[in-house]
Amino acid sequence: MTTKQIAKELSLDSAELRMRQAGEWLGLEDGLIETIIAPRRVLEVSIPFRRDNGTRDHLVGWRGHHNTTRGPAKGGIRYHPGVTRDEVVALAIGMSLKTAIMNLPLGGAKGGIAIDPHLMSSAELERITRRYVSELIPFLGPDKDVPAPDVGTNSQVMAWVLDQYSASVGHIVPGVVTGKPIELGGSLGRESATGRGVVEAASLAGAQIGLKLDGSRIVIQGYGQVGAWAARLAHARGAKIVGLADVGGAIYNSSGIDVAAVDSKFRSGAKSVVESDQGDVIGKGLDGASEVFAVDCDVLMPCALGDAVDEKIATQIKAKLVVEGANGPLTPKADEVLQDRQIIVVPDIYANAGGVTCSYLEQCQNFAHLSWDEHEVNEKVVSLMQGAFKRLHSLPVDQNLPYRLAASVLGVKTIADSHRMRGLHP
Ligand code: GLU
Repeated sequence: MTTKQIAKELSLDSAELRMRQAGEWLGLEDGLIETIIAPRRVLEVSIPFRRDNGTRDHLVGWRGHHNTTRGPAKGGIRYHPGVTRDEVVALAIGMSLKTAIMNLPLGGAKGGIAIDPHLMSSAELERITRRYVSELIPFLGPDKDVPAPDVGTNSQVMAWVLDQYSASVGHIVPGVVTGKPIELGGSLGRESATGRGVVEAASLAGAQIGLKLDGSRIVIQGYGQVGAWAARLAHARGAKIVGLADVGGAIYNSSGIDVAAVDSKFRSGAKSVVESDQGDVIGKGLDGASEVFAVDCDVLMPCALGDAVDEKIATQIKAKLVVEGANGPLTPKADEVLQDRQIIVVPDIYANAGGVTCSYLEQCQNFAHLSWDEHEVNEKVVSLMQGAFKRLHSLPVDQNLPYRLAASVLGVKTIADSHRMRGLHP
């Protein structure tokens, strides 16, 4: 991760602008859009902690509740050196829109600590997480705010969040967090849910332009939890994965990369897709990885970090359809270039909402004290993605109302309707 990349993360300005454009499209009355744009509350916390070598260190973290009109704030906790207050708010806006588009009874939140988790031991990460959570206790709870994993965090971190919160209230509260280990009330299907949703979004949007997933050529940038699952599930539905990239570089195979063979190489110690001996290596390192964007394909799925595709890269893209697995992978300028080139973009706030959708299903199971089998969870995720796609198409989606704006319009409208019904107190 270079400093340049960190600085280019999804900006608050563009997240706010997209909401404002949706408000204008809807002709919202009486300054309502300002109420919707403003985060309800943002907490900044200092995190003093002990390093393993006995010295004292400090970090800074945030938790932002963006909109809570439709339900408890919901969203991940990110551990990344580039995390800032504004990035947390921008990502929380994305969560409010996602839960609204998916019609989940939840609001939007995000949290994060400016830290490189790879430079910390597991014991240090545990102390940091516990101290961060203890500062957030009044903010959290199944009816207030429910964290989940995001970039740099995982189910183990969620287990510490659950434990720290539960210890402070005196009893276990599984519903305070999602994406937790199965043993603690996590849901089957959670790991694959975001990738599953991305593939379903590609299939639904593709069908609109006569592009069948079966037989299509797909390029995936990012081979973490989202990208790897998208690759496996798209492959299982008959697609050919012609390009793959991660921080180590990019690989290409016009007749389709053997995804199972890539996974098997990872299990036996490979650190990057370029070490998988599958396809040709077309770029090495982080800079070389962007070669994957120029690969000839039908569908491109950027599934790594924010702002990976800038204006210049956007001119090289050959896909007909771009489906955003990551949060904010296209810069606003790249988005304009793709629109001018009539390349269809399915935005993050719909395309990667399978993750939070499964989080919601996890909470349903926690509240009802039951556990569904994996097939049932997967089916529910897919059916909720399909329902949201139908609602998206109740708007006149076309060149003048591209999916990005349509998704913001649907999200903002859903939130605005509930604001109106609740009224303004006092
Ligand atoms: N971090 C994921 C996202 O950005 C999941 C959030 C959640 O499950 O609450 O959508």
